[in-house]
Amino acid sequence: MTPPILCWLRRDLRLSDHAALARAQQAGPVLALFIFDPALLDTLPPDDKRIAFICAALAEIRQQLRQLGSELVLCHGDPLAVIPSLAAQTGARQLFFARDYEPMARQRDAAITAQLEAQGIHVEAVKDQVIFEQDEVLSAAGKPYTVFTPYARAWRARLAPQDHAPWQVVLDSRHFVARASLPPALQGSDAPITVTGFEAVDLAAQNIRTGMHGAQALLDDFAGRIADYAALRDFPARKGVSYLSAHLRFGTVSIRALVQLALNEASAGAQVWLNELVWREFYQQLLWHYPEVEQASFKPAYRELAWPGEDAHFTAWCEGRTGYPLIDAAMLQLNSSGYMHNRLRMVAASFLVKDLLIDWRRGEHYFAAKLLDYDLAANNGGWQWAASTGCDAQPWFRIFNPVTQSQKFDPDGRFIRRYLPALAALDNKAIHAPWLAKTLPDGFSLGHDYPAPIVDHAAQRGKALALFGR
Ligand code: FAD
Repeated sequence: MTPPILCWLRRDLRLSDHAALARAQQAGPVLALFIFDPALLDTLPPDDKRIAFICAALAEIRQQLRQLGSELVLCHGDPLAVIPSLAAQTGARQLFFARDYEPMARQRDAAITAQLEAQGIHVEAVKDQVIFEQDEVLSAAGKPYTVFTPYARAWRARLAPQDHAPWQVVLDSRHFVARASLPPALQGSDAPITVTGFEAVDLAAQNIRTGMHGAQALLDDFAGRIADYAALRDFPARKGVSYLSAHLRFGTVSIRALVQLALNEASAGAQVWLNELVWREFYQQLLWHYPEVEQASFKPAYRELAWPGEDAHFTAWCEGRTGYPLIDAAMLQLNSSGYMHNRLRMVAASFLVKDLLIDWRRGEHYFAAKLLDYDLAANNGGWQWAASTGCDAQPWFRIFNPVTQSQKFDPDGRFIRRYLPALAALDNKAIHAPWLAKTLPDGFSLGHDYPAPIVDHAAQRGKALALFGR
């Protein structure tokens, strides 16, 4: 067989507007591969939705590649062993993949690159996940930005049409390696794509759209609503946001297509949405320049805070039993769907840190385990923002009041009722703070049907101010 050009799919699970695939095709017929790495799989529970999401995306890619007479090679193992072995089996002398900015991935990619290059195999990493990466947006002093507004201004000033132009992939059988030419062990089977040890989670039954077609359906739906984004995005009961985060995380849609959508629209909603895409890149470049934020507060002053919070309170927060309805509904949304609305991520994170006085890293890890869209840069950035430990974070003395947030952003309790049916009969005033209600529905007993608040917000606020102000 003619030696293939290997294209390693990772966070770019699609076949269009694909930087690594397009670059690989310029070098010759491509063989696409995906590796299930035990180092990542072993950290996940058997019902992890992300595995099902990945398998669905891979199934769609495999089907399309097979229609072109090619194959998606699925491997299990340490990439450091898998890729050299695949190169040996196929005679491949070139490998392309999209750059990843997470510390562990950077280490892995550096090791693979060094190993393959030592064997004379050409390795090329390309930018795909973001519009601007690494040092592409720096301050006039040549330093990384640590404040969002000037970063966003510089990002927008730099943006030129070629930055969001799609990478053209040729979906033609001549540009892919023929399945029939592969050694039999690489030709794959017709069995559904699954991973041993993981349950076959039915995402469609949970209303989670998967793969390139799922991303496109969400994008089309959002395109009709984007003008209303600014007005509706803070209300969790309203359909105001795009719900595209998991697709961006796994690359079933390209960031360039999203930026193009925002630029095509003149509305204020589209501009605000574009700003959110820039926040995503702000946190990505921050993680690139300051990988230490994965472990520690960005602000050194808060690295040694002695968090007095209780384990029992952490458990109550995780399980949606704090007695604050908006917080509990948010946590139940996360636990049941793998998604939490952005306003609620901010309020729930703030509650853990500034009401329960628990180390933000415990909450960050909990979100990391549960979110379908979990992304180290965005999650860490969001948590450090809420905890006031990050760069350009919420000031430490600004503390969300979980009751007023509830009254403001879920005024008729529609979101709360969706996740807490026990509170369905409470009126629109009582539902935000049942313990303050003068009358409660007949038969409803606070402490029995729904918990009494586990802490007093005003008292905890005082303790948080003392802790941070010290
Ligand atoms: P939309 O409002 O439609 O926004 C479009 C896209 O912009 C999102 O898909 C996302 O990629 C990006 N985006 C939006 N807001 C932010 C933001 N504040 N920071 C970075 N990117 C943003 N986002 C993740 O993708 N993964 C995470 O693990 C994650 N953890 C978070 C943890 C906390 C504590 C907080 C406060 C925020 C977190 N976010 C995270 C950001 C944000 O909440 C989600 O991106 C958003 O809720 C996803 O819904 P959507 O796709 O409908 O967003």
